[in-house]
Amino acid sequence: DSTTCLVQALALYDEVHAITFDYGQRHREEIETARRLAGQLGIAAHKVMDVTMLGELAVSALTRDDIPVSGELQDNGLPNTFVPGRNLLFLTFAATIAYRRGLDVLVGGMCETDFSGYPDCRDNTMKAMQLALSLGLDRKLRVETPLMWIDKAQTWALADQLGGAALTELIVEHTHTCYHGVRGERHDWGYGCGECPACALRKAGHAKWRAGA
Ligand code: ZN
Repeated sequence: DSTTCLVQALALYDEVHAITFDYGQRHREEIETARRLAGQLGIAAHKVMDVTMLGELAVSALTRDDIPVSGELQDNGLPNTFVPGRNLLFLTFAATIAYRRGLDVLVGGMCETDFSGYPDCRDNTMKAMQLALSLGLDRKLRVETPLMWIDKAQTWALADQLGGAALTELIVEHTHTCYHGVRGERHDWGYGCGECPACALRKAGHAKWRAGA
């Protein structure tokens, strides 16, 4: 999702800066993959930001080794991979950097169509963040979420439309989704355990896109 958003931003804007957040996620592979990918896409301004204190503060299966990723919802109706405050914090830090660098659009891959139910991925949350950041910084900032209303199959289709087979192949080979940080064998949808909620969404979306393509 992030890769597709990044390629779309490169097509839309003259200047694109990328940020990867290190929040102590167990799937460390995600950070190295982002670093490699930024190089492959020619992003000169790629920052890996250390926000590992979030991993210390927030109890989640993504940040604690002793909590296995579960496909079941918890009593609060959310998956145990929910990291409270994650996207709120990410957008705030991104806005701080944007302010300093004179950039006025924040692009994120949040989506509430085909998602894990995280409340900080919802459109209303993003709109509220856009307002809060613009007011709090006294500068008009726009939060763009191009994937908000499309499903994972349509995201694959968007990648195909933006960069053809070269891009979808790059995504299959060089991006990371799996919560377990597993690379393992290559599937037609990419690498990963194939079982965790993140892999399941990616795999199902790819199959639906191939079936319709
Ligand atoms: Zn997985």
